[in-house]
Amino acid sequence: MIPYGKQDITLDDINAVKDVLLSEYLTQGPAVPHFEATLAKKVGAEYAVAVNSATSALHISCLALGLNKNDWLWTSPISFVASSNCALYCGAKVDFVDINDSTYNLCPIALEKKLKEAAAKGCLPKVVVPVHLCGQSCEMKSIYRLSKQYGFKVIEDASHAVGAKYCDEYIGNCKYSDITIFSFHPVKIITCGEGGVALTNNSQLNQTLNLLRGHGITRDSSKLKNRDEGSWYYEQLSLGYNYRMTDIHAALGLSQLERVDKYVEYRQSMAKMYDAKLADMPIKLPQQEKDTYSSYHLYPILIDFKSLNIDKQEYFNNLRNSGVGVNLHYIPIYKQPYYKSLGFEYNYCSNAEIYYEQTISIPLHQKLSTEEQDLVVNNIKKFLGC
Ligand SMILES: *Cc1c(COP(=O)(O)O)cnc(C)c1O
Repeated sequence: MIPYGKQDITLDDINAVKDVLLSEYLTQGPAVPHFEATLAKKVGAEYAVAVNSATSALHISCLALGLNKNDWLWTSPISFVASSNCALYCGAKVDFVDINDSTYNLCPIALEKKLKEAAAKGCLPKVVVPVHLCGQSCEMKSIYRLSKQYGFKVIEDASHAVGAKYCDEYIGNCKYSDITIFSFHPVKIITCGEGGVALTNNSQLNQTLNLLRGHGITRDSSKLKNRDEGSWYYEQLSLGYNYRMTDIHAALGLSQLERVDKYVEYRQSMAKMYDAKLADMPIKLPQQEKDTYSSYHLYPILIDFKSLNIDKQEYFNNLRNSGVGVNLHYIPIYKQPYYKSLGFEYNYCSNAEIYYEQTISIPLHQKLSTEEQDLVVNNIKKFLGC
């Protein structure tokens, strides 16, 4: 089976991990701060706080921004459940803003409309989480402008978008947001095994994120509430978690980070080839906005199965049975039984519904060869009857 996504591990990666295993520290050693500093410098952010997953990064980012039980967090329904679960961890309430029907990202026009209505009712969100779906940036300038007008904070869920750019600058520089999150799960652009990071330019947020990932504990004598009782002394200042990244994971991430631009270039070239090879098919291909340079974590194709009179399940299974590891990203979050139990209607956002009906993610990763790509394309056509 040609998988839809796959990690690429080199001998350098293996040696980097081995070096840590043979060193003094497996965790809380030098590799994590080295990874953080290198990543922050690369994407142009002041601070990076590495954690054990993007989900953890989203959680502590919401806490650091003060999200609590009377607050709302809004995000896109077409994302992984972690984008909204982070609000529920804080006891806050979640709502969804429908997607744009060509980028499939959170739609700034729908956002503005919903903000106007919420302002009238006095229930504006405290945090909005735009998700850079597939690695293509959301319209951050519009979202930023709205955040100033309506007074909400912005966390970019850039789990798909390591190495991607917006207006010729790396996503992660937090120019239009308070915090940006990356994921280093093996299926994403670069991997730590498991891992994530929160990037910010705000020193106060950086300090709070650091506290929250490590039990809320500090040893910094300038921050202690009581008298420093000795070199053993530490204080817990808030209720934090153990969300630390290990040095083993950081060493892998650091080694992978050296290849991120190469990876994105390869994904871009394979995506362009899909664009060409699938043109003239009854398929909607991923459209790119002019200010964006996507990392192409995913390549979703949209097929109007209903009007073509094709059974989607059968088409999907045919592809899988022919060795093409298709997948689907994503089921609208509000359709999940858990979210239904929170009161969401099953067909809450109309563009998200159409997207879900039509989308299939086809294989795209750094190990995908052109021969494999041709096999994918031929089967996509064959089962469409083209
Ligand atoms: C993968 C992913 C996450 C969660 O990342 P983890 O590192 O697995 O916790 C969050 N949001 C989106 C959009 C993702 O794709």
